[in-house]
Amino acid sequence: MQFDQVGADALMEITSRPDLVFVRGQGSWLEDHNGKRYLDMIQGWAVNALGHSPKNVVEAMCKQASELMNPSPAFYNAPMMELAKLITQHSCFDRVFFANSGGEANEGAIKLARKWGQLHRQGAYKIITFEHSFHGRTLATMSASGKAGWDTIFAPQVDGFPKAKLNDIDSVRALVDEKTVAIMLEPVQGEGGVIPADPAFMQALRQTCDEFGLLLIVDEVQSGMGRTGKLFAYQHSGVEPDIMTLGKGIGAGVPLAALCAKESVSCFEHGDQGGTYNGNPVVTAAGVAVMQTLTADGFMQSVNERAQQLSEGLLALSAKWGLKGERGQGLLRALILDRDDGPALVEAARNRNPEGMLLNSPRPHLLRFMPALNISKEDLDQALQILDALIAQVRS
Ligand SMILES: *Cc1c(COP(=O)(O)O)cnc(C)c1O
Repeated sequence: MQFDQVGADALMEITSRPDLVFVRGQGSWLEDHNGKRYLDMIQGWAVNALGHSPKNVVEAMCKQASELMNPSPAFYNAPMMELAKLITQHSCFDRVFFANSGGEANEGAIKLARKWGQLHRQGAYKIITFEHSFHGRTLATMSASGKAGWDTIFAPQVDGFPKAKLNDIDSVRALVDEKTVAIMLEPVQGEGGVIPADPAFMQALRQTCDEFGLLLIVDEVQSGMGRTGKLFAYQHSGVEPDIMTLGKGIGAGVPLAALCAKESVSCFEHGDQGGTYNGNPVVTAAGVAVMQTLTADGFMQSVNERAQQLSEGLLALSAKWGLKGERGQGLLRALILDRDDGPALVEAARNRNPEGMLLNSPRPHLLRFMPALNISKEDLDQALQILDALIAQVRS
């Protein structure tokens, strides 16, 4: 197959893409238009929780698509109800609103918190968020994010997102005033470089919220759905948030996200929230298949076994090459390099022959690993061996 330059030029240039077209994926492997295979340690940025084209998700979607694709969001459909039931049964939340992307789910969380503030806190609306956080690319979620430069890029920002420092409770408490309605964070900062919030910090946030009457919102778009070794990352700390958002892994690759809340916070009135495609049966059928897989006997245990294998493998590479260790939770991990050759390693991995590997370097001194939750022991071993060879190659 020829590379379609005219097609490439017809697309808005929003990022630099290599001249590759991916045509096929199965499990942990992708294939490009030249027939070259790649071992995938990105999985669409932690999106394909069960790898490429998982059989049970494909079957659930095909069956649903042939029966009913969209009755309208103003009517119930069976997969939407089933998925809401599964999420509420396996979490501390009582109500779910389905969205199409993580950013949209977070917009919903912000709206829900502001609505709750109008009803219960005399119009308090400020939401404390964190430096280096990432919550999406809509105007409000970019304003909530703590990425450098994002405060001015599409100025003016949406107002009311003061930034605190992760794992520094004093920096949070210093920002609380009578207009504060919530604190929102990623239990593991993903784009920020795989930085987990300490359990003690999560507990201090809960206590601060209880003390001042604030809502605790966890953005689990990346950390949820088994990624960190528990179904939801908040479960590592024993605290119960008031609101949680899900995305990425919940759809196994198709556009699905969720806004989850406790009963006492679920205060939207008719007309406050909605969306044309929200909760449509084709994507929620995919979500049901994902939830069934994740909650099946032994699945999370195998995630934790692979997580330990990855962690130990990265530590061994760190020791061998004099790197700075590894960190993360479950199958969301980062290898910390001793120099800024992350981008060079990503490039070398993709260009490697005969088989390539897809890696991600969210910061120049970091490599981030987000393999399929069901990656095989052998594929993970192979990824670690390839990485070893790549470090030797790039540093020779
Ligand atoms: C990816 C991500 C988002 C945005 O999700 P989209 O589906 O790209 O809108 C929000 N929050 C976190 C923590 C993410 O990792």
